[in-house]
Amino acid sequence: MREISTDILILGSGGAGLFAALHAHKAAPSLSITVAVKGLLGKCGCTRMVQGGYNVALAKEDSVERHFMDTIEGGKWLPDQDLAWKLVTLAVERIKELENELGCFFDRNADGSVHQKAFAGQTFDRTVHKGDLTGIEIINRLAEQVWARKIARLEEHRAVELIKTKDGQAIAGVLFIDMRSGEYVFVRTKAVLLGTGGGPSMYKYHTPSGEKSCDGLAMALRAGLPLRDMEMVQFHPTGLLAGTHTRMTGTVLEEGLRGSGGYLLNGAKERFMPHYDPRAERATRDVVSRAMYSEMKKGDLSPNGGLYISMAHVGPDKVRKMFKGMVDRCADCGFDLAAGLVEVVPTAHYMMGGVEFAPDCSTELKGLFVAGEDAGGVHGANRLGGNGVANSTVFGAVAGDTMAEWVGKEGFFQEIDFSAVEGAISNCEKPFGARPSKHGSLDPLRERLYELMWEKVGIIRDAAGLRVALSELNEFENELKETGIADGNRAFNLTWHDWLNLKSLAQTSRVIAEAALARTDSRGAHFREDFPEAGPLEQSAFTSVRQKGDGLDISMKPVAFTRVRPGESLLRTHE
Ligand SMILES: Cc1cc2nc3c(=O)[nH]c(=O)nc-3n(C[C@H](O)[C@H](O)[C@H](O)COP(=O)(O)OP(=O)(O)OC[C@H]3O[C@@H](n4cnc5c(N)ncnc54)[C@H](O)[C@@H]3O)c2cc1C
Repeated sequence: MREISTDILILGSGGAGLFAALHAHKAAPSLSITVAVKGLLGKCGCTRMVQGGYNVALAKEDSVERHFMDTIEGGKWLPDQDLAWKLVTLAVERIKELENELGCFFDRNADGSVHQKAFAGQTFDRTVHKGDLTGIEIINRLAEQVWARKIARLEEHRAVELIKTKDGQAIAGVLFIDMRSGEYVFVRTKAVLLGTGGGPSMYKYHTPSGEKSCDGLAMALRAGLPLRDMEMVQFHPTGLLAGTHTRMTGTVLEEGLRGSGGYLLNGAKERFMPHYDPRAERATRDVVSRAMYSEMKKGDLSPNGGLYISMAHVGPDKVRKMFKGMVDRCADCGFDLAAGLVEVVPTAHYMMGGVEFAPDCSTELKGLFVAGEDAGGVHGANRLGGNGVANSTVFGAVAGDTMAEWVGKEGFFQEIDFSAVEGAISNCEKPFGARPSKHGSLDPLRERLYELMWEKVGIIRDAAGLRVALSELNEFENELKETGIADGNRAFNLTWHDWLNLKSLAQTSRVIAEAALARTDSRGAHFREDFPEAGPLEQSAFTSVRQKGDGLDISMKPVAFTRVRPGESLLRTHE
């Protein structure tokens, strides 16, 4: 096993990981910093896929208090208010840093001010963007800046276990598989950032980048850390539905289509949204996704088993001009977005839940920090469109600053628990000892997970379905353990990585289902048919799940209203 040492180890190269690397380097240039990533730096993760943009209160008529209130009300009073406050206040600094120090170009108005567009669920047009390819602009500039500095990279290195000290009190390093050779690599370090970006890819339809499989959340769980708000999985209403054998299925058709007047139609080509909500297609993501799911359950389906979006009445030329990227994407799949109908389905998009953390990004494990979609508590029951990339970049930078200072003061190379390293390797080796899958591939197992999460732990839930899902997840995990893969060449052995992906996804799915069963109310993205009411906001509590032995320990913890209580608003006192 190859061994490497570095002062600071960053897992993931999305907005969180790259900002952390740049800030840590700036704060303490003498420290050695390594970014280790499952994909290629600058080319992977969901930050690169950001289309719509970045929420930030810049305009004179807007305020951080207004952005804060939108975030708290959108999150149905479940966000941690100190985290949300940090998000909205530091987003202002970060967007200026992105433009003025890192070289991003965002769209501007004729008077030279930054253009900010409307996004659902917000009381002000505050979404900064670069056309509809905002993420590419951000990640390209961040990657160039990282490449230009003395920051080490371990690309196509998959983190498989957080390794603690013998006494279990601190982190000592991380075990990896070098995907290019199949070798194990141990990285010894003083501080680790978990920035692997969550990603609900256990659902039949999902949007995240292909390499994301909740590895970070599963590693944190196995390391004994608490995960909060895990029942909160956001579905985007308009995932493209182009058949089972294309990766295009599940990818997002942007919200602007509904925003600019698009209609959703059932299989009989009838509009249905006005029956569900007075805002019709312009209602929030959770409301529209639920209505679509209910409509699908009635059985009037499009040829691929979903519904339709129709834009023709908006004017085909206008649609071609306004949504060129979307029109091209649909054309690639045989659909005419401008003048015809496109098949769509709600698609799992974002995990509001994640590792519990403090506003300085520290966790309860000494030396382990977390930022971005792996971190829980910023968004509560719903993430506003545009608050995702703000979250990863804001807290990535905070984590970089904190880690640099922390390593300088109290970070040192700790004694490694080598038995934990051996245990982790033996867990990764398991599929090579087992009998190869009777199906010849892992596909049928993956399909089973997709189906059970979509049907029983998806958009509409109830206790009976969640209990069945938990028992099916147990069977699934047992079957996965017994499913072997051929022990051939380990270099780029994608079947092996698929097996490891399914393991992380199954462990995280169990947490989602348990948290969903524990929450006996309906808030934001979590809807219980047997408990359809939100419950008293004053008594808001969040779910907290941690691993105890082979089981999970679940508790409900009260939300601390540190800045504003339900029924109050910061706007009254500040504006
Ligand atoms: C299609 C799409 C559109 C979106 N549009 C918007 C938008 O308009 N506005 C908005 O605010 N948000 C949007 N989001 C959400 C936004 O992308 C995320 O909230 C945010 O950028 C996540 O950043 P991150 O750094 O936490 O994770 P990511 O950017 O996903 O990065 C995760 C990194 O971790 C690496 N990784 C994963 N597993 C491992 C492992 N085991 N070992 C090592 N590395 C690992 C990955 O390779 C990747 O480099 C969108 C998401 C998608 C999918």
